[in-house]
Amino acid sequence: MAKRSYTKTPMKEQDPIVRSTNFSEVALGYTDEEGRLEAIRCLQCKDAPCIQYCPVMIDIPGFIQAIKDEDMPEAYRIINRFSNLPAICGRVCPQEKQCEMVCRLGKSKKFEPVAIGKLERYVADWALENAVSEEPIPLDKGKVAVIGSGPSGLTVAGDLAKMGYEATIFEALHKAGGVLSYGIPEFRLPKSIVAKEINQIKAAGVKIETNVIVGRTITMEEIMDQFDACYIAVGAGTPNFMGIPGTGLNGVQASSEFLTRINLMHGYEFPKYDTPVKRSKKVAVIGGGNVAMDAARSAKRLGADQVTVIYRRTVEELPAREEEYHHSVEEGIEYEWLTAPVEYLGDGDGNLVGVKCIKMELGEPDDSGRRRPVPIPDSEFIIESSEVIEAIGQGPNKILLESYPDMNLNKWGYIDADEETCATNVPGLFAGGDIVTGAATVILAMGAGKLAAKEIDAYITQQKDQ
Ligand code: FAD
Ligand code: SF4
Repeated sequence: MAKRSYTKTPMKEQDPIVRSTNFSEVALGYTDEEGRLEAIRCLQCKDAPCIQYCPVMIDIPGFIQAIKDEDMPEAYRIINRFSNLPAICGRVCPQEKQCEMVCRLGKSKKFEPVAIGKLERYVADWALENAVSEEPIPLDKGKVAVIGSGPSGLTVAGDLAKMGYEATIFEALHKAGGVLSYGIPEFRLPKSIVAKEINQIKAAGVKIETNVIVGRTITMEEIMDQFDACYIAVGAGTPNFMGIPGTGLNGVQASSEFLTRINLMHGYEFPKYDTPVKRSKKVAVIGGGNVAMDAARSAKRLGADQVTVIYRRTVEELPAREEEYHHSVEEGIEYEWLTAPVEYLGDGDGNLVGVKCIKMELGEPDDSGRRRPVPIPDSEFIIESSEVIEAIGQGPNKILLESYPDMNLNKWGYIDADEETCATNVPGLFAGGDIVTGAATVILAMGAGKLAAKEIDAYITQQKDQ
């Protein structure tokens, strides 16, 4: 048997200079040999801490053992029992802060943790290539409406179909997937992969009705009348703005608009697709999360010579995934740390020409426990730029929420749902994902969907027994 290597088996990637000019996927996947080499690094721990740190509790040693045994159908069956979207999670989950963070192999000084995410992707891609899917079961236990087709809605619907429920997803946009389709760019998450995993869920019997805005096209009251239960997973897609002087200048935009034009509407393929998207030589991106990384790397791919990310804390506090940050640096993205924009500057004709910034220092910790950035007096300077993309967070979309006052919201304007059951104050109405937690992660949204599916099953069973 091959010797266990100290480091993770690297996954081949497109060269940074080449990839910063195209939208094709950066990471190229494991070969069978690489997959097995990585799988033999797993210690097969009996108490497997990695499982406890996975929000959907995948049997990680179980599927890795099946890879070692060269039994790929079994590896996929094991993952599929816990996750409906493994090819997506294998690509975008922050494993370094979850399963891989507690991996026992990585606790020994000499070894890196097992590359659990890359192995998950390897198995899921194998299943998609080999068109492996589970046999659907009869859907006769009841009818459930799901609002929103992001990872939370897809998970609840997929799990309910596996339990024998007829689940119908209502989606406002013309394409299913939520952020997976309109937010995360092709070079991190190919849309063909998203489509294939959604097709697997549809093959289990889930119906998806696109172009339906709940609260406008159909009301919540109508849905509650027509279905045995309902799960709301409408995400948090409304952008926040800095609101500083100059926000109205031509060239200032929100990341959600910029990324939606590129991902959902293929703006990067203009004029083949009829969606214009702004292309500039000098671009500034405000923020430090995954959204900021995606916007900066997309702007580079659209032809910018200089892309500067402006972040008010330091690299230590950067909320983006480590891998995305490293990839961005390799691709030539520049960073202004401890810096905040104070004004957008125009050319007198309404066009942006620069961002006036101020330097910050870190003071006392704030409510989140992170040290609060404090402006340094008289430290203003200007970054030349004809395009600014603000990526400073999103809030709830109010269309559905305002149309249904019966449902309680919390003080931040998100749906008030029980953490342990996803139940709202309205009987039979459940909610989860970003619309409950605020902007979070794919896997946390999926975790809520899994929990809700069990609770909805219990609720409908109890109603029918009465
Ligand atoms: P969403 O994915 O937001 O889906 C909600 C869906 O509901 C949307 O399709 C929306 O159109 C629909 N909807 C809204 N209102 C209505 C209505 N009234 N009627 C019908 N449908 C409606 N997380 C990670 O783990 N890793 C990453 O690398 C990562 N990168 C990200 C990059 C970007 C650019 C963004 C924006 C987010 C990223 N995230 C990442 C966060 C992650 O994508 C979200 O936490 C996750 O998608 C939330 O899932 P959700 O199902 O709650 O909502
Ligand atoms: Fe394998 Fe690491 Fe999980 Fe142990 S903690 S079972 S070594 S992946």
